[in-house]
Amino acid sequence: MARIVIDAERCKGCLLCCAACPKEVIGPGKDINSKGYNPVIVVLPEACTGCALCAKMCPDVAIRVWR
Ligand code: SF4
Ligand code: SF4
Repeated sequence: MARIVIDAERCKGCLLCCAACPKEVIGPGKDINSKGYNPVIVVLPEACTGCALCAKMCPDVAIRVWR
């Protein structure tokens, strides 16, 4: 099973990864990080295939993929 880890301090909440994920694993979060951004969260962990499209899309290298 694959999973991702989002670095909430690096994330700017741009939502590019949400658009990139074909399985809708990632969604908007409600917390605010120390820079004032809303980091995304994993909303559907069991659907992750480990394809890494989200990590490739992220301009801030905030997502790591484990598979
Ligand atoms: S690795 Fe693929 S399936 Fe998993 S969250 Fe990223 S884009 Fe979605
Ligand atoms: S693409 Fe990166 S910076 Fe943008 S919301 Fe996703 S994890 Fe955060």
